[in-house]
Order: sequence, then C-alpha cells, then structure tokens
Amino acid sequence: MRIVLMGPPGAGKGTQARRLSESTGMKHLSTGDMLRAEVASGSELGLLAKGFMDRGDLVPDFHIIAMIQQHIDHPAGILLDGFPRTVVQAKALDEALEQTTTPVDQVIHMSVDIDELVKRLSNRALCGDCQTPYSLESDPPSQPGICDNCGGSVAVRVDDRPEAVTHRMKVYQDLTAPVLDYYKSHGDVVEIVATGSPDEVFEKLSQTIKSGMPGVNAN
Ligand code: ADP
Ligand code: ZN
Repeated sequence: MRIVLMGPPGAGKGTQARRLSESTGMKHLSTGDMLRAEVASGSELGLLAKGFMDRGDLVPDFHIIAMIQQHIDHPAGILLDGFPRTVVQAKALDEALEQTTTPVDQVIHMSVDIDELVKRLSNRALCGDCQTPYSLESDPPSQPGICDNCGGSVAVRVDDRPEAVTHRMKVYQDLTAPVLDYYKSHGDVVEIVATGSPDEVFEKLSQTIKSGMPGVNAN
C-alpha cells in the first residue's frame, strides 16, 4: 500500500506520518527529513539543498527524484510525506511505480486554514537529530532546547521564520496545489480537515487508511 499525505507547510504531515508509521508498520518517507539529514551530514546534496531550503524554495526535481527513487518500495507499504511536491515529481513517481507491483493507493489532503498554519509554524521547533517536532506553546520539550526523545538540540527551523513561511505558502500554491489537481484527475483525493487536536486528526487519518486497505470495503 502506498499513501501520499499532502497538505501545506504546518498541516501536521510529519507529526501524523510518524504516528501512522508506528501504528501501521508502514515506512515513513519524508523528503524534508531526508534533506535535513543530508544538510546535517554535509554531503554534496546537503550543500546544494541548504540554500533552497533556508529560503523556502523547492530543491530542484532532478535531485529529489534521484534521492527518493530507491526507497519507494517496502513490504509493509510506504507513507509519503512532502513528496511529490510538483507535477513533475508526481509523474516521475507514477513512472517509477510502474516498475513495481502497485501504484499510489490513496492520496490524502490535510487542509488547515492559512491563519492557523502561520500560527503553528511560528510556534514550531524541531530536534536537529531525530526530527521530533515540538510546539513551543502547547507541547514544548520538558527541558528547554533539549529533545525528550534523544537528547539532541531543539531549535526553530530557519525556514519557519516569518519571511520564509510567507514564501513557502506561495510556493505551495504555485507548485504543489497543482499536484492535487493532477491526482484528482486520475482518481480520488480524500479530504481531511486537519484543524482539530493531533489526536483527533490521527483518528480521522487512521480510519481513512483502514478503509483503503485491501480487503476492506470503503463506503
Ligand atoms: P514543510 O512540509 O513544513 O514545508 P518539509 O520538511 O516537508 O516541510 O520540507 C522542508 C523543505 O525541504 C522544503 O521547503 C523544500 O525546500 C525541501 N523539500 C522537501 N521535500 C521536497 C520535495 N519533494 N521537492 C523539493 N523540495 C523539497
Ligand atoms: Zn531528538
């Protein structure tokens, strides 16, 4: 089973994908996490990607497609978070999946209104080592700046600063919203309103995914 989780920056894709991966056993693939790991390791790709990421621009399709290609098959299924983000990436994914046994099974769009997104992002911090997200207002690490999960350091992402956030929202509208139209023209996109508490959103997502699993009749 392959699921694409879509939604604007701050919709909660990463948080939910992590939990869903624990509850279902599916592999969580986040191109944002993969890129941040490349940046942290100082690799050639990381050096190239950093400038794009800090500004809130997309890393060029060619590099993203090369990076993700060998990861898109996993026996327990995959949960894609942050990919595909352009129509070119969506088409490359379809082509790559033609070589494997199953196409994309479910596309889930998590929608949140813009004021709420901006508020969430300005409150968000992230562990630089294990990528656990925190909300500085409602769910801070128990010791300031230190990750509860791994002891790494928790900081606000450069691209969560207000200038970059505004730009990321525009990039989402211009380049990623068309991916939703692409999927809608091929089949169904399940819409989830992702404004409730993280637990409520998790429940909705779990139900949606269960109803899409082979052998279960969706209604
Ligand atoms: P968010 O969903 O909060 O915007 P991500 O962690 O998914 O954050 O992505 C952070 C940054 O990494 C993006 O702004 C972009 O620069 C880069 N990135 C992640 N995924 C992709 C992708 N599929 N294509 C191009 N750039 C990407
Ligand atoms: Zn951590």
